[in-house]
Amino acid sequence: MTPQQIDTFFATLQAANPMPASELEYTSVFELLTAVLLSAQATDVGVNKATRRLFPVANTPATILALGQEGLESHIRTIGLYRSKAKHLLETCRILVERHGGEVPGTRAELEALPGVGRKTANVVLNVAFGEPTMAVDTHIFRVSNRTGLAPGKTPLAVELKLLERVPEKYLPHAHHWLILHGRYVCQARRPKCWECAVASCCDFEPKVRAER
Ligand code: SF4
Repeated sequence: MTPQQIDTFFATLQAANPMPASELEYTSVFELLTAVLLSAQATDVGVNKATRRLFPVANTPATILALGQEGLESHIRTIGLYRSKAKHLLETCRILVERHGGEVPGTRAELEALPGVGRKTANVVLNVAFGEPTMAVDTHIFRVSNRTGLAPGKTPLAVELKLLERVPEKYLPHAHHWLILHGRYVCQARRPKCWECAVASCCDFEPKVRAER
């Protein structure tokens, strides 16, 4: 994609959805961190189902710690890898209480030091909660960036760095949500809906997929 095409790509996504938001449900930075931590290899819908049970009972580091491993597992057992996620979340809560006064820290180094929090989770929290123009490359962003020619790369980190270099600054705050939503609903993994895609004119993917008759 040329810089002009990249601009048109994001201008089009922006016009269709000026204020995109995460589909994970949360009402505080800690709830966001918890939801993202639970979302690895799980769908947002599945995570929301579990957190709707968990958050009314415990939605702070101290109250989740008080649940203990078994208590926490009982609320999130519908999510894949729930045992290790519960273990990581409890350890993260302990660190938040002991070192951060029960608050979620706002730097990458402090976030990535939390168990179960990798670069992608830190990027989501930094972007959504702290307004930093980071790019959390999930499976959708990785695919869309490569397929369209927006930011090709062999690893999520390579794609992340290329996106930060190529996406115009004015679009950076919301770019990761636009790309996730575009990948989830239009530029889907198995069969991208090129025939109804608003950004088809600036996408490198060829041949475009046609609607079935
Ligand atoms: S034209 Fe097709 S491949 Fe390109 S962004 Fe749209 S859906 Fe994806």
